[in-house]
Amino acid sequence: MKASQFFISTLKEAPADAEVVSHQLMMRAGMIKRLGAGIYNYMPMGLRVIRKVEAIIRDEMNRAGAVELLMPVVQPAELWQETGRFDKMGPELMRVKDRHDRDFIIQPTSEEVVTDIARQELRSYKQLPKNFYHIQTKFRDERRPRFGIMRGREFTMKDAYSFDRDAAGAAKSYEQMFAAYKRIFDRFGLTYRAVAADTGAIGGDLSHEFQVIAQTGEDAIIYCPTSDYAANIELAEAVAPATPRGPATQALVKTPTPGKSTCADVAALLGLDLKQTVKSLVLATDELDERGVVVKTTVWLLLVRGDHDMNEVKVGKLDGLKNGFRFATVPEIEAHFGCKPGYLGPIGLLQPVKIVADRTVAQMSDFVCGANAWDHHYTGANWGRDLPEPDLVADIRNVVEGDPSPDGKGVLAIERGIEVGHVFYLGTKYSKAMNATFLDETGKPALMEMGCYGIGVTRILGAAIEQNHDARGIIWPASIAPFQVAICPIGYDRSAEVKAAADALHAELLALGVDAILDDRGERPGAMFADWELIGVPQRVVLSDRGLKEGLVEVQGRREAEASKLALAEVAAAVK
Ligand code: ATP
Ligand code: MG
Ligand code: MG
Ligand code: MG
Repeated sequence: MKASQFFISTLKEAPADAEVVSHQLMMRAGMIKRLGAGIYNYMPMGLRVIRKVEAIIRDEMNRAGAVELLMPVVQPAELWQETGRFDKMGPELMRVKDRHDRDFIIQPTSEEVVTDIARQELRSYKQLPKNFYHIQTKFRDERRPRFGIMRGREFTMKDAYSFDRDAAGAAKSYEQMFAAYKRIFDRFGLTYRAVAADTGAIGGDLSHEFQVIAQTGEDAIIYCPTSDYAANIELAEAVAPATPRGPATQALVKTPTPGKSTCADVAALLGLDLKQTVKSLVLATDELDERGVVVKTTVWLLLVRGDHDMNEVKVGKLDGLKNGFRFATVPEIEAHFGCKPGYLGPIGLLQPVKIVADRTVAQMSDFVCGANAWDHHYTGANWGRDLPEPDLVADIRNVVEGDPSPDGKGVLAIERGIEVGHVFYLGTKYSKAMNATFLDETGKPALMEMGCYGIGVTRILGAAIEQNHDARGIIWPASIAPFQVAICPIGYDRSAEVKAAADALHAELLALGVDAILDDRGERPGAMFADWELIGVPQRVVLSDRGLKEGLVEVQGRREAEASKLALAEVAAAVK
């Protein structure tokens, strides 16, 4: 490829809305171009990286025995109604209508469609196990699209779905995918960690996320450096600030009227108008992921009047709320926050709760809560947290660095990560909802056991850059770089010797299968070098009249401080 034929468009400055370095550098390197919130053009330079990521994924998925197909982006709502997700999923699911007023969705994931294929095509135990995958455009109407293509609304995902005869078979499929994921992320050349992930109540009990370690990651991972224990604390979408999960109480504030705290006191403290505030309500919402799995249960406490007997607040009701809410009882909430029974008193929050679209509770950042030890209120309560799950996740609540690891093999450390992959054992959740059965050896119908496995193809680019960059730009791992080598002749348009040597080297590298680009644009050396450093090509070869007189060229790795002088004939071996 010659640079003049290709498309190179670099910028000195990143746009102001690019908060993280990967977003800034991808924009500056001309890899992506914004079209709308969370919607990007993948420009030629960026698309080359995406294609390389996809090629590695395909290679390893095929090696692991998965079969590629392609399922539609626009899917009929009927299938999503079968599993209930058409109604259950929140506004992240993009619903559209066709000209006949029929409902469709733009797929955020494809469990329904693949299960529909399986129930029609996989009729006998002899056809199992089977793993179908595709690499396809996804759309999720994210609440906060940001960080460029790391949290886009339209993005590319590889999603695979396994079908097995029984749970043991499904566990094996899961293991195979887990191993394939490790090979994939090893080949990407990224530092990552596979961590236990929260599966919620319905999703089965086996789930791991692959997290690329980076300071800017939205997730917090706890791990034990002396064992293989690692788990995700879901901080990304958490409503509370990313402070450590404290107990319910963080800081003590005296109420305005010592001696007796009432709801009115709390309201005064918070500057709320009690009359406008919903009263006597304690509720919990379940947040479902795109699989319909409960990933987070959030306890919402609305301002409760001080004269109200809290223990009477059981299954409350609020006009306008439809199904999908579960109301927590006070004892549950006390247990959640580790309070003594009867301890919870008047409770308030900094902002009144807004109920949006029936089931989304508006974001709130901080809470004040009261206690029956009169005249004490606590601020900074981390209410927006998951209820304990009866497994590992339960153990990671309130964790701080240095706490003993749940496996007893050391102490915990915390680091931040970017979720780039997710493997999930689904059990029969979807096969049951959609009646996906096969005939077993005895001729009886049985439900298929499923698993699903995602990789954020486009997110990988951002994650790779977060982990690999310097002041001059991106430093791509060689396996996914847009080009492996940039050939930079000085005076390509002026010197016949330079042109001949550069053309010959280019042809030689291409013949050897090295993905080399020849910069024939006639840029000044400084500008040319700056471009390739920004774009992050791993190797640069500089040819000049002066060097060629001695038969030498300069080869410099993107991470190296200085170039080495090599004979032209040695270049191919050095950059391969
Ligand atoms: P997150 O917690 O970041 O919202 P998720 O758990 O909702 O991700 P999954 O449903 O597990 O995502 O999807 C599989 C993979 O797709 C994720 O591991 C991630 O790499 C990628 N992905 C999910 N949402 C986005 C997005 N908005 N933009 C880019 N990639 C995404
Ligand atoms: Mg998500
Ligand atoms: Mg997640
Ligand atoms: Mg996930």
